[in-house]
Amino acid sequence: MPIRKRYQHEQVEGARVGRLDAGINTTFIVYRIGSTLIDCGPSNQWRSVREFVAERRVKQLLITHHHEDHSGNGARLARQFGLTPLAPQLAQDKLSSGFYIPPVQRMVWGRPHPVETAPLPDQVVLADGGLLYPVHTPGHAKDLTCFYLPQQKWFFSGDLYISKSLKMLRADENLVQLIDSIGKILTLDFEVLFCPHRGIVEEGKASLQAKFDNLLSLCGEVQGLAREGLTSREISDKVLGPEGWISKLSRYNISKINLVDAALTVDLDRPVTSQVVLPAA
Ligand SMILES: [Zn+2]
Repeated sequence: MPIRKRYQHEQVEGARVGRLDAGINTTFIVYRIGSTLIDCGPSNQWRSVREFVAERRVKQLLITHHHEDHSGNGARLARQFGLTPLAPQLAQDKLSSGFYIPPVQRMVWGRPHPVETAPLPDQVVLADGGLLYPVHTPGHAKDLTCFYLPQQKWFFSGDLYISKSLKMLRADENLVQLIDSIGKILTLDFEVLFCPHRGIVEEGKASLQAKFDNLLSLCGEVQGLAREGLTSREISDKVLGPEGWISKLSRYNISKINLVDAALTVDLDRPVTSQVVLPAA
C-alpha cells in the first residue's frame, strides 16, 4: 500500500500509512522533524515507511510507547540508519523481547520486530537543533511518553489524544491515569498537536481540553445512571450506543462497556493536580 496522505506543518512532515482504511484507528502517521523520526509505523507498512525515510536520512528515532503501530519498524530503521532508537524505559523489555498482540491488532498492523533501544533522556537535543522534552503520560499505556517542544509550542501526543470524545477503552487502559495525564499536559503552553491517528490538530490545546471536559462529563453521566440503578450494559447502550465491529472482533478487549466500567471508578471530587516539571535547559 503506498503512502495514503502527506502532511506538513513548518518543519514537520508526516506520512499516513496503513493496510486498511477503516478510519483513523487503522492508519498511522509517521512524523519527522528534519532528520528526527517520531514513532515508526506498523511493520506491515514498511514499504511505505521506507519510501518516506528514503527522502531524508534518519539520524534519530524517538518512540512514544511500545504498541505495534508506533514501534513496528524500529528494528529495520535501526539497521538501515545505524542508530539506536530512544524509547521509554518501561517499553524497553517489551521492545527487545516481544509482547502479546491480540489477533485483530496483528491483522491490522503486523508484528513488530524485536529491537534494542536506549532510554529517553530528560531532554533530547534534536539532530537538527532544538530541544524536545519527553513527558510521561500513563493511562493509554503504562509507558506512553509524549514529546513537548516549548519553543515551537508543539506537542507530539502519541496516543494521548486521538479524539475529542472517547467512545471505547482497551481492557488494559487506565482511565483514572489517562484523565490525570491529560490534566497534567494541559498545564503546558502549546498550540499544535501532532496525533499519529487524527493528524495535525492546529487548535491542539483546545482540542485536548475538550477531550478532558468530555471525559469528565461522561463519567458524571455514567455515575448518575448507575445511581439510578442501571447496569453497566444498560448505561453503555444508552450513553454510547451498541458495540461496534471492533468490540466483537476483539472479544470486548476494546469496547464501550470497558469505558463505562472505568468511568464508574473515577473520583470526580478529586482534582487533577499533577504538573509537568521540565528540566532546566
Ligand atoms: Zn497505543
